[in-house]
Amino acid sequence: MKFLRRTGKDVKSVDNLKGIFPDWKEKETWLFIGPHDDDIVLGSGITMRSAIEAGVDVYALVTTDGGMGYCHMEQEKTIGKIRQEETIESFKVMGLDEEHFFFADFPDCDTTSFVGRRAAKAGDPAIEGYTGLQNAFTYYIRKVKPTRIFLPTGEDLHPDHKIVYQEVLISMFHAGGNIWPELGEPTPPPVAYEFGVYCDFADAPNLKIEASEEVFQTKLDAILAYKSQEQIASLVEGVKAGGPFEYIREIEFRFYSVNNYKDLF
Ligand SMILES: [Zn+2]
Repeated sequence: MKFLRRTGKDVKSVDNLKGIFPDWKEKETWLFIGPHDDDIVLGSGITMRSAIEAGVDVYALVTTDGGMGYCHMEQEKTIGKIRQEETIESFKVMGLDEEHFFFADFPDCDTTSFVGRRAAKAGDPAIEGYTGLQNAFTYYIRKVKPTRIFLPTGEDLHPDHKIVYQEVLISMFHAGGNIWPELGEPTPPPVAYEFGVYCDFADAPNLKIEASEEVFQTKLDAILAYKSQEQIASLVEGVKAGGPFEYIREIEFRFYSVNNYKDLF
């Protein structure tokens, strides 16, 4: 395994995961969030497996219920359940037991209806009487208390990917404050990282992981667990052809301060 960190034109290469993540805590806890079940292994399977092997406490959260992923009419009503079983199998291949992943169960392809937070109505996915992506993400971030969060880049075209990106990032700050006390104790905002699934990053990534054959094979096997997704074979071929690499981009926040503009006038 090879781990690389780029700062400008300087590239540092080390043989351990810890060497490319600054401020490594004694107890590292990582939370991977996918809009859909297969996004996490597709975009960050190598990163996740490296973290598990490095002793990081790794969790995964799947945002939607997979209900729109049917390729045959007879699966129109059952696809969500089928995909949930495939997800359990896929995470098992990765090395995650059932205590380490969660399903938030928002309707697939309809995250737009669940932006923000509001009192839950009958049938809404609810936590503590409220629904909405910010409610769920704040709850899970406080529950897991991650030191780092990983999610697909907001550049992906799928609206579920764009919305999950936006809602997770704001929820990190909700989770760190005192609002919505029924969702748990405040926890300091984690460092956030994005990985590529379908579209390029907005800006060049600064981390790279080069996997051993074994870790790469684990990622491919975890993707293949999604048997009901008929495009999965071609996705696996694409991942194989690309080789055992993953790129990650640390997300930088540009917070407003009057000081940022003082020199302009
Ligand atoms: Zn997706």
